[in-house]
Amino acid sequence: MSSDTGIQIPGRLPLLLTHESVLLPGSSMRITVDSPRNMKLVKARLLRGTSLKSTIIGVLPNTRDPDSEEDELPTLHRTGTAGIAVQVVGSNWPKSHFTLLVTGLCRFRTVTVVKERPFVVAEVEQLDQLEQYTGQAPLKGELGQLSEELLKYAAQLVGMLDMSVPVVAKLRRLLDSMPVETLPDILTSMIRTTNKEKLQILDAVELEERFKMTIPLLIRQIEGLKLIQKTRKPRHEEQKKVVAVLPVRKGGQHPFKQFSLDDSVEEGEEDGNDIALLEKKIRSVHMPEQALKVCLKEVKRLRKMPQSMPEFALTRNYLELMVELPWDRSSKDCLDISSARVLLDNDHYALDKLKKRVLEYLAVRQLKNKLKGPILCFVGPPGVGKTSVGRSIAKTLGREFHRIALGGVCDQSDIRGHRRTYVGSMPGRIINGLKTVGVNNPVFLLDEVDKLGKSLQGDPSAALLEVLDPEQNHSFTDHYLNVAFDLSQVLFIATANTTATIPPALLDRMEVIQVPGYTPEEKMEIAHRHLIPKQLEQHGLSPLQVQIPQEATTEIISRYTREAGVRTLERKFGAICRAVAVKVAEGQKAAKTPADDSSDHDLVLPPEMPFVIDKQAVRDILGPPIFEMEMSERLNQPGVAVGLAWTPLGGEIMFVEASRMEGEGQLTLTGQLGDVMKESAHLAISWLRSNAKAYQLTNASGGFDLLDNTDIHLHFPAGAVTKDGPSAGVTIVTCLASLFSGRLVRSDVAMTGEITLRGLVLPVGGIKDKVLAAHRAGIKQVIIPKRNEKDLEEIPAHVRADLKFVTSSCLDDVLNAAFDGGFPRIRSHDLVNSKL
Ligand code: ADP
Repeated sequence: MSSDTGIQIPGRLPLLLTHESVLLPGSSMRITVDSPRNMKLVKARLLRGTSLKSTIIGVLPNTRDPDSEEDELPTLHRTGTAGIAVQVVGSNWPKSHFTLLVTGLCRFRTVTVVKERPFVVAEVEQLDQLEQYTGQAPLKGELGQLSEELLKYAAQLVGMLDMSVPVVAKLRRLLDSMPVETLPDILTSMIRTTNKEKLQILDAVELEERFKMTIPLLIRQIEGLKLIQKTRKPRHEEQKKVVAVLPVRKGGQHPFKQFSLDDSVEEGEEDGNDIALLEKKIRSVHMPEQALKVCLKEVKRLRKMPQSMPEFALTRNYLELMVELPWDRSSKDCLDISSARVLLDNDHYALDKLKKRVLEYLAVRQLKNKLKGPILCFVGPPGVGKTSVGRSIAKTLGREFHRIALGGVCDQSDIRGHRRTYVGSMPGRIINGLKTVGVNNPVFLLDEVDKLGKSLQGDPSAALLEVLDPEQNHSFTDHYLNVAFDLSQVLFIATANTTATIPPALLDRMEVIQVPGYTPEEKMEIAHRHLIPKQLEQHGLSPLQVQIPQEATTEIISRYTREAGVRTLERKFGAICRAVAVKVAEGQKAAKTPADDSSDHDLVLPPEMPFVIDKQAVRDILGPPIFEMEMSERLNQPGVAVGLAWTPLGGEIMFVEASRMEGEGQLTLTGQLGDVMKESAHLAISWLRSNAKAYQLTNASGGFDLLDNTDIHLHFPAGAVTKDGPSAGVTIVTCLASLFSGRLVRSDVAMTGEITLRGLVLPVGGIKDKVLAAHRAGIKQVIIPKRNEKDLEEIPAHVRADLKFVTSSCLDDVLNAAFDGGFPRIRSHDLVNSKL
């Protein structure tokens, strides 16, 4: 508060009734407000108030807890301090409260209470004014003597404190600049005094009385300080001044409040012991020589450092981390290939290729203890068990497992840590992970390496390169640690949804193992062997209580999920278990016998009867099916064809729709298409226009110029998903051929392939995922480019057995397969003949 604001307080003031704290004019204080009355005051006056006057409140100490009885107004103290609320902070934790920062302006006396609810408002009389003292002649007579005495003690007190502490410097300035009349209030609020003493100072309206009361308080403080410094001197000469001013602790309203003799002496000793203890620990953890040297140097610095310095805590945290790191702690490898095989098989159904490669990897590791081989990287759609295989590997090796999620990491200090010079610096995820697992040979799963970002803060993939490189990672240096840590014992496994976005240098270090999606049959097995038992256990249910027959699982797989992995499937079983758990807990059974179908009541059945989740129960719990077999419905008019698309989440089927209308030969494309896809659409139209006669395709008026007086609209539903890539070419041609010929595309056919202007079909990527997606969707026949034939080998045999594959090298082949009875082309000489 500046001393020349000249504030006259209003004649009526809202009163904040404090219980513990006493605000004095000229000082600032934080007040926690949580009683209903005070909260209402804050809300009504301080949060809404706009003028300066509206933020002036009366702070009135009262002797009883304002919480005690809401309705009854406690006896009010007569004298209070008017103050300006300069800051209001609200919080709901641990319960609703506000914290006000209030600066005291002047004393007032309560004349009458005007109203008690919702908060107290009173008529008040202003007793003094800060600025009345400025510019006055020096005090004379007894007052003059008293003021000089007070100044003397105040100066002595300040002289004993360390000027480098900001609050001491501030006090020094206050002593010089504030009129001496204001000092009793200011000093009392800063030194260690009880509430009762403060209350007495508040009540001392006469200046002389105030001086007389403050001087003994100052003397007491000075004596206390002397005693502290005497006790400290022999041990830490250099710290004697600073020690007295400990950092603000919880509940302290001002640093000066902490001149507690007992506290500071005890803490000092404790810290000394702590450092010795820390040093002992450092010496006992067998860190490498270089690290030990750094640590001991830091300990030495710590000893010289006053604890109040922020760096003290930083250095200590650093040393504690160094002690916690597993420099020479490792878990014992207990690898036995035959039991590893059993364990992997037990934990995971299918995934043969992946398991085979993992076993090879482990076998080599067993034979040759230190493996400087490539890092395994599992690539596949979500929920196909990549993470879970990683966990199994750790289990087979008897090692700790730790997952490091890299999705969205775009700062290299996430991997490598921040230098300790930064505020809030911390080690990177690798070092943090080591600290968490507590051994130096864990299995680290680097999850989602394909989602690493890049930013101005450096490229995290470059940092990862160093971590993964067997030639370098024995001396990995985290910026925070600043000494090397040997990562060569850590087994790294990476996972990704696609290799396309993995930085090439990183990809080069890794051996990619593709994990395709599952077929419905595999999902069924996984569900019954793993997912259902796991969910039952998680929900505290036993297989005797719930039975989920195969028909229900089939229903859930085909109509409630459409995914490559099994994560959603697992979630659906979770939902079923929750529903059953409620019933079990209620001791009731919802399932009704067929004869009882009409009854609406739940039957209370004996507990030994299990809950059988039949199709009806699935519907009751999960709601109506999400994915209906929509194929034939959607393909029941000309101008619709089914394509196959690849996404990082696995393959998907994709409908392409076309319609035509009168117009000027324009092509409209909708459905969030990328440039390549748009080009495919133009290619398709051009090829069809040039071959219109050969296929007898006509426009609305029967002519062969397909765009004559005609606009075409192509739409790729699921418009919220961006689509791109050339592989929709054949689908667009088929869809338009259907539109112009008026014939229906077969409803059990899906296709993929890039086209050229001359009508050739070129190979595309992601065949396996696309075929699996077609299989999931119940497609019977898949048209693929001829040059993709070799990719069919990767597809599981039973899926291949379910599907018919048509290979195509030109669009003729595609159209012939897509339409029932083929799509005949009139050869050019026939065309000539027909013309003649
Ligand atoms: P990802 O890491 O590939 O996204 P997760 O490893 O998290 O997938 O797998 C999701 C869930 O599916 C896990 O509960 C996992 O145990 C289960 N799961 C996936 N594949 C299999 C499998 N082949 N056998 C048994 N459980 C599996």
